[in-house]
Amino acid sequence: MKNIQNFDRELFDIIKKEENRQQNNIELIASENFVSKAILEAAGSVLTNKYAEGYPGRRYYGGCKFIDEAEQLAIDRAKQLFGADHANVQPHSGSSANLGVYFALMNPFDKVLAMNLNEGGHLTHGSKVSISGTYFNFVHYGVDKETELINYDDVYKIALAEKPKIVLAGASAYSRKIDFKKFKEIADEVGAIFMVDMAHIAGLVAAGLHQNPVEYADIVTSTSHKTLRGPRGAFILSTKEYAQKINKAIFPGTQGGPLEHIIAAKAICFKEAMTDEFKEYQKQVLKNAKKLAEVLSKRGIRLVSGGTDNHLILADVSSVGLTGKEAEYMLDEVNITVNKNTIPNETKSPMVTSGIRLGTPAMTTRGMKEYEMEQIGNLICDVLLNKKENNEIIKEVKYLTSKYPLY
Ligand SMILES: *Cc1c(COP(=O)(O)O)cnc(C)c1O
Repeated sequence: MKNIQNFDRELFDIIKKEENRQQNNIELIASENFVSKAILEAAGSVLTNKYAEGYPGRRYYGGCKFIDEAEQLAIDRAKQLFGADHANVQPHSGSSANLGVYFALMNPFDKVLAMNLNEGGHLTHGSKVSISGTYFNFVHYGVDKETELINYDDVYKIALAEKPKIVLAGASAYSRKIDFKKFKEIADEVGAIFMVDMAHIAGLVAAGLHQNPVEYADIVTSTSHKTLRGPRGAFILSTKEYAQKINKAIFPGTQGGPLEHIIAAKAICFKEAMTDEFKEYQKQVLKNAKKLAEVLSKRGIRLVSGGTDNHLILADVSSVGLTGKEAEYMLDEVNITVNKNTIPNETKSPMVTSGIRLGTPAMTTRGMKEYEMEQIGNLICDVLLNKKENNEIIKEVKYLTSKYPLY
């Protein structure tokens, strides 16, 4: 970063501070990860200089010969990786991808059945503060009050009563596997289009460790930066039937020029996700989540649904007399990063909450395994249960993070 350092010392210092924070913190935010150096290079490459409105072979600008090759590579790899007929790799973010799909398939106020934000869904799945919830008519399913799992019979009942145009599966804070086959049956029963938002689990799907939604859904959206460990961005997979509609809805429907440097980085991400090393990584993500869950549970912190089958854990910290906000703050003080999160049957506001969400993708990328997860789990409990001085914990965090450097 010599040029930044020479020209803009102020920003250089800020980036360095953030780099140090990433190096020295135990990062347990379930939606975050650390990309490879190759992906960083692509994201910082000259491809950022090029305008390329349109799609490979059909651009509104000259000089797109090589950009076309790069974007086509990303498209082909996305299709191969997930077994899809069509891929659009242009969405700038998961939210843009979802908006594009809604714009492609619906008229204003058409109905979608999706998961409740409070019980694991995403803002773009019909929250009132999102364009999704104001321009379209979202109805919601949640989780079973007792088991805290998706109850497919309930989903079916709601679908039957509401007759939505789209049935949407996918979540941001659900720690169990989702049965896309059952969702597909429900969508078929009520004549709805079946859409999956696999943002959180795309890496697990790519590695064959979660049911692949592409086998069941008409349309699948995903971010590229969560478990999939690519650049910040998104993509859409679909059947041939919806290909044109999706493409038109992204450009010119809801976006302008694509971010070709990021699309190039996505191409690398898809290539990385095809390797055996990546499969091993995802297996370790799951093992690490299981171990972390086991430690928290053993020390008296209640886990939503009792545990985890994927990369994330939702912990009910009201079980140890804390709010999510308090727990997040206490852990922040010792350089362990998590986020507060609502839990099923939530009684507190989204700014306070009763839970915290923890995920293992980032620290697994750093090379940590079950042994370290046991240590991290115990550190978390020591903090939340006030069993150790913060200074002592900070030292142990520092030891762990310096043993597993970021780059
Ligand atoms: C993260 C996420 C998104 C949104 O992604 P952004 O890139 O932050 O816009 C959408 N859907 C789900 C299920 C997510 O987890």
